[in-house]
Amino acid sequence: MISTSDAFVLLGKIIDGTGADPTDDGAVAVMGEVIDWVGKADALPPRWRAEGTEVIDCTGRCILPGLVDAHTHLSFGEAQSEEELGIYTSVEYRSMLAGYHAAKVLKAGVTSASEAASTYSISVALRDAIEAGIVEGPRLSAAGRQITTHQGLEDPFPSWVPFQPGVPGTLVRNRDEILEAVRLQVKDGIDLIKVSGSADAALSNEPLSGAAFRAEEFDLLADEVHRLERHCAVHARTAESVKLSARAGFDWIFHASYMDDEGLDLVGERQIPLVPTLTLLFNMVEAAQGTVGVSAVDVFKQEIDAAAEILTRAHSLGVEIIAGSESGLSLVPFGQWHAREMEIFVTHLGMSPLEAIRAGTLAASRTLPSWRGRIGSIEEGKRADLLVVAGDPSVDIGVLQQPSKFEMVFKDGRAVDQTPVPDRRVHPFERTRIFLQGKFVYDEEAQRGVVT
Ligand SMILES: [Zn+2]
Repeated sequence: MISTSDAFVLLGKIIDGTGADPTDDGAVAVMGEVIDWVGKADALPPRWRAEGTEVIDCTGRCILPGLVDAHTHLSFGEAQSEEELGIYTSVEYRSMLAGYHAAKVLKAGVTSASEAASTYSISVALRDAIEAGIVEGPRLSAAGRQITTHQGLEDPFPSWVPFQPGVPGTLVRNRDEILEAVRLQVKDGIDLIKVSGSADAALSNEPLSGAAFRAEEFDLLADEVHRLERHCAVHARTAESVKLSARAGFDWIFHASYMDDEGLDLVGERQIPLVPTLTLLFNMVEAAQGTVGVSAVDVFKQEIDAAAEILTRAHSLGVEIIAGSESGLSLVPFGQWHAREMEIFVTHLGMSPLEAIRAGTLAASRTLPSWRGRIGSIEEGKRADLLVVAGDPSVDIGVLQQPSKFEMVFKDGRAVDQTPVPDRRVHPFERTRIFLQGKFVYDEEAQRGVVT
């Protein structure tokens, strides 16, 4: 950890997060918690040249804005199953776990994140604890449980099992329950409402089609959220759910893997940003053998192909595509994969590295509505959230996936202690109760039992 005074200057190549060309031999002057000045080092104003000014020479390195992850689930505790999320571990234990994981995310260079659904109301409490200085982590925008129907994500158990308290969803069955769910979450302090607009191949063995709500229900959701001056985002993997939520005026759309031409026209006309979280699909395909969740790996490969095709077109037509990692499940553990989405945008959506960096910084700051205009880029007056990175991500975006390249991380002008968070022990009570992985059968030849 380096110690810095209240005012200091960083010298290096600046990639400002706006998509603009980098500035070689740049300087960023930080005063307290904000960026006071940025530009060419040789144009540094006299007040920053005074004797005794702390200068951190990062020549040969790049200075970037802190990463903004538009899709995290800090309360999910790297769960391996829906049972673990919904049933095991208390809200108290899960909250402490969220604090432990938040530090990992910040140390990985993510200075801001948008929580896209929470177990219990942990995201709200975590946001407040970080702002109060109780817990170390990125600044957060918080959603509550995602609002769902029986056809959406997060009504995970069979109909004969009561809805479980830790499930990161709120089941609504009619118009009144929709209104009550929105109003209650707003009362509890959320920044955004997450709606489960479609099913998900990882959790449902139904074909991925249709939508979880009727058109008038999407309209009602968006209207009520906006009437209460909050924002609404939607999980929408299917063509139908994209169209209905876009017409209803949702503020941003997650996934959009199977968006059709009509949906693309709608998001283009209405300038609705898309947050694909392709990292989850890529990780599922690479990590899983045969099946993952309820679906075969082939299903996710198909989804990647469909998403890459339509989202490449969306990007070329000027639709804002934003990077979010989906960190939270054991498939996407914390502090590991936050920059992978930017790399995928370059390899699969035709973005330049500078466009991808913008997608993971300035563009992603739209998902923290109360911080818009104050974070996401290196510009005068913005929060001094900065990274110093060895290597040049404007040439090789893969650099951002390498933790050893993150030489310094600043949040609000303060250097983040990058000492890794120690590994933790997992209590047996956190996981699904399994008596035995396999079957203990009698082997007559060996005259003893063997596990098969
Ligand atoms: Zn998610």
